[in-house]
Amino acid sequence: MSTPQQTRTGVTLDVDHSDAAYRAWLKEAVRRVQADANRSADTHLLQFPLPERWGVDLYLKDESTHPTGSLKHRLARSLFLYGLCNGWIRPDRPVIEASSGSTAVSEAYFAKLIGVPFIAVMPRTTSAEKIRLIEFHAGRCHFVDDPRTMYEESARLAAETGGHYMDQFTYAERATDWRGNNNIAESIFRQLRRERFPEPAWIVATAGTGGTSATLARYVHYMQYDTRVCVADPENSCFFEGWTTGDPDVTCDCGSRIEGIGRPRMEPSFVPGAIDRMMKVPDAASVAAVRALERAIGRKAGGSTGTGLWSALKIVSEMVSEGRRGSVVTLLCDPGDRYLDKYYSDTWLAAQGLDIGPYTAAIDSLLETGVWPD
Ligand SMILES: *Cc1c(COP(=O)(O)O)cnc(C)c1O
Repeated sequence: MSTPQQTRTGVTLDVDHSDAAYRAWLKEAVRRVQADANRSADTHLLQFPLPERWGVDLYLKDESTHPTGSLKHRLARSLFLYGLCNGWIRPDRPVIEASSGSTAVSEAYFAKLIGVPFIAVMPRTTSAEKIRLIEFHAGRCHFVDDPRTMYEESARLAAETGGHYMDQFTYAERATDWRGNNNIAESIFRQLRRERFPEPAWIVATAGTGGTSATLARYVHYMQYDTRVCVADPENSCFFEGWTTGDPDVTCDCGSRIEGIGRPRMEPSFVPGAIDRMMKVPDAASVAAVRALERAIGRKAGGSTGTGLWSALKIVSEMVSEGRRGSVVTLLCDPGDRYLDKYYSDTWLAAQGLDIGPYTAAIDSLLETGVWPD
């Protein structure tokens, strides 16, 4: 510590908060997060089989193989590095997040990795499997009765404990290195390098925080590619309406049935200006698509993967009908075994009043003929 410097009036103008113990802790915490990334392999770019003669190739970036099983592993890593490097995450102080889903699972993992407590603020109705995964990574679940109070309750807990409220919906887009550093976009383009169409015509994403679509679109623009970015939005979500009307204040009251995506308000991390196109996808179409994925590649995935795949297949059919050759990329966001009692359960579909029949028929017809039925 330096000696305080005094002015003639006796006011201290030099304050030094540096503390050797904290600095050593910070270095070690950053090293552990970086080492986790260094131990991790890149995620696969899978091919969805289409007839070669169509001249259109479809790929899925398989984000289910991260250590915590979803694309939220990337987000949690970025949020932890951002919070640590900003001096927001401190030794022995809890990290708090408002999340009922995959973000809390991945953040609990990183909190344990650097040795700080983690509290997930979530609705009392959160599925037992998600609670189990958070507690498996030594996280604590704090329940609220009204989901709308999750955010203020998280902020209150942070103030009360001296902890840090991560706030994924605000910080997702800015915590991520959008120019490169092996982000999801850079990785996709590198993996496409030896394909017959290395610069995709379209990348299709879905939006929860909006962070992934922002990273993809910004990277494409920064690298001066011609690729277009489409965001597929599920039923109970206002992103489509907000993007279409340009109104940042749109809301909707009903919660999304497609876990991980669809929001009741325009989240700060959703960057509408960067997105080229949006599609509204019926929830039954998302389920039909994710089941078609299993028939095509033998893998189960979550509902949001179906939402993106439905839109990607629609775009493929447009390219086929226009005689345009090229590639399309979408994301496999998380594994289907988390949702066996949901998207893979006919009982659940019936209880929700969802009929996937017509959408399944549309996909089958497309895959056979290349034509999207009206
Ligand atoms: C978060 C999430 C998404 C969307 O990603 P964002 O970057 O938050 O927009 C899609 N699918 C699943 C399963 C998710 O958890």
